[in-house]
Amino acid sequence: MTHYICTECGGEASIAGVCQTEECKKEGEALLTCDCGDGLHSEVKEKKEEEQDE
Ligand SMILES: [Zn+2]
Ligand SMILES: [Zn+2]
Repeated sequence: MTHYICTECGGEASIAGVCQTEECKKEGEALLTCDCGDGLHSEVKEKKEEEQDE
């Protein structure tokens, strides 16, 4: 089932939206769509690591 996560704080929501964790660096940024079935969000987390590659 599709869900939405914040890779910064690990927040998870069942509907699209933005991170609402006050202390999160990504507060107010769009949550990422994830479709994993194991709760590990591995696909989204791998994408995040690619983005951080400098
Ligand atoms: Zn967050
Ligand atoms: Zn997931």
